[in-house]
Amino acid sequence: LLDPRPIERRTLTTCGFCGVGCSLEVAARDNGIATVRPVDDGGVNRGHACVKGRFSHGFVTSPERLTAPLVRRGGSLEPASWEETIGFVAGRLAEHRGTEPDSFALISSARATNEENYLAQKFARAVMGTNNVDNCARVCHAPSAAGLAATFGLGGGTNPFDDLDRCDTVLLVGANPTHAHPVVGSRLFQRVVDGARLVVVDPRRTLLARHADVHLRPRPGTNVALFHGLAHVLVRDGLADTGFLETHTTGFDDLQELLRDYPPERASAITGVPARDLESAARLYGNSRAPMIFYGLGVTEHRHGTDGVRALANLALLGGAVGPGSGGGINPLRGQNNVQGACDMGAMPDALPGYQKVLDDGARARFSEAWGTGISPRPGLRIPQMFDAARSGTLKALWAIGEDVLATGADSSSVEAALEACPLVICNDLFLSATARMADVVFPVAAWLEKDGTFVNFDRRFQRVRPAVRPPAGVRTDFEVLHAVAAAMGADLGCPTPEAALAECAELAPLFAGISHQRLDQAGALHWPCTSAESPGTPRLYRERFATPDGLAHLAVRPYLPPGEETDGDFPFLLITGRRGEHYNTGSMTRRTGNLALLPQETLDIDAADAASFGLRNGDPVQLTSRHGRAVLPARITDDVEPGQLFAGFHFPGAGVNNLTSAVVDEATGCPEYKLTAVRIRPAPAG
Ligand code: SF4
Repeated sequence: LLDPRPIERRTLTTCGFCGVGCSLEVAARDNGIATVRPVDDGGVNRGHACVKGRFSHGFVTSPERLTAPLVRRGGSLEPASWEETIGFVAGRLAEHRGTEPDSFALISSARATNEENYLAQKFARAVMGTNNVDNCARVCHAPSAAGLAATFGLGGGTNPFDDLDRCDTVLLVGANPTHAHPVVGSRLFQRVVDGARLVVVDPRRTLLARHADVHLRPRPGTNVALFHGLAHVLVRDGLADTGFLETHTTGFDDLQELLRDYPPERASAITGVPARDLESAARLYGNSRAPMIFYGLGVTEHRHGTDGVRALANLALLGGAVGPGSGGGINPLRGQNNVQGACDMGAMPDALPGYQKVLDDGARARFSEAWGTGISPRPGLRIPQMFDAARSGTLKALWAIGEDVLATGADSSSVEAALEACPLVICNDLFLSATARMADVVFPVAAWLEKDGTFVNFDRRFQRVRPAVRPPAGVRTDFEVLHAVAAAMGADLGCPTPEAALAECAELAPLFAGISHQRLDQAGALHWPCTSAESPGTPRLYRERFATPDGLAHLAVRPYLPPGEETDGDFPFLLITGRRGEHYNTGSMTRRTGNLALLPQETLDIDAADAASFGLRNGDPVQLTSRHGRAVLPARITDDVEPGQLFAGFHFPGAGVNNLTSAVVDEATGCPEYKLTAVRIRPAPAG
């Protein structure tokens, strides 16, 4: 039955699930959400939204929302007043401030707005005196930020999403946007229907792979060899624009030397991709006028994820996808709503807001002067290093803002050991997450539908986030919590409102100098770099020169190196983990909505022949054992996966998928190798 009560308020905001950044209109009555509709002229989504953004909002009124702070007493978490909890946290953190600042670490996240991320890193640096601040990009796209910045000068994608309509060929690598970025997936599919050519690189037969002109299925962990094989064909067949490469890049001679070692036959032997398919893909890509590369975690979440990003960036340069005179681009599909913004705002151990290096004396001096306090010259710990430090006893206090590190971290038993060893764990969350259950203090905080601020989506677009409803009584925003703890420690974080926080950031970070709430309210969106109040922003990067000091793109010359895990007689299957369309990340929000009926549990995707060899039928429980842990999942027999490979989503932490994944990380950035784990399987007893 239709609710007869009138709609009282309609609020324009930005979706808080994936990194596409769809514009949504939220209608509310009696401080409850009535409907969520995609905005017709929304910058990215143009009237589209997915089953998450449009329908998955019931979590906001879940009876499981935390509405009072919790403090551990005598082994159990007990409700406490805000005043008491803030005082307790401030007192404990004050013990570390000054004497041993690096014994404190803060993990921020995409759950927080830009303004909250700005305040979080300011709290760590200006109040606690440490650069031990990181964010959830560490476990997904840190290799993109590092790899793209090393090649081109900036760590973001190169194009606005609308450029998809101008491209003639899409190279989609290690991404399943139909599920992980549904509006991108739909528009990409539409573009293919309209005539664009499509090359998909993915071990799995995804929906888009089924409609691709060429589908390459490399063995997980062999991307770099595949990209070098494609590059070899481009150079060998004269499909690389040598004039452009000589004028706008460095390293081409060395790269050609390296590529001699990757003829299609050798690349095929390493990757398992037939040489003729590799040649077809290279020719299709190399003959396009405006090729566009989109890629996802299948590139980054590897032991050599940064090498993978850089080898893909080589392909972009060789194929004329990026740079002066190009018609295409290279764009990482950021998985979370504001993971780009968390990095942009300096929630990183080696970078201040706007990617200004902690090691840069001039940058530190500017922030020191503005904040009235010294900035440590030592880069801080990355998330995996924070856990190492906790286990070794040198990290004494850890504050996780919106990131359920126990559910999301690889090799979860090692994360659990770190949380157990850390004397003070503080957690901001909507619900009693796995991390919150182990914390000493839990702050109940607001959801994205209750917040004021901005997010940055996957194509570097700042957009406004506005409160559609008020948070439940007893709940505060992360912004308010950070201010309150700082104040109780006798510190003033300044910037009393989100608008003031972004203004302060804009003053200190030239990349964002022209961005403000006021301009966003008028313009709707602005792409960084936006270096003055007159600048319209920069939807397309590198039209005249690259952003490196010499203005040239730096081709990477790195050989293929084997992944961290290999199969053997004991662990003969390769498990890949990833996303499914119905849920979002740990599922803490979407599992508390009607989406649970669409996908009520996690499954193990397995090839029919493999299932038959174990006598498994659909739904039968399967025990997985890796070198790190165990999990049990029901079988789902499908031809999506190759024989010898398995796939599971990570939206049901209780299923224990991250018990299996390994602690191996990308050597350049510390991003875990979620995309391949050697496992063995056997039928498990029912129930
Ligand atoms: Fe758009 Fe992603 Fe939100 Fe779906 S989850 S509505 S694709 S931003």
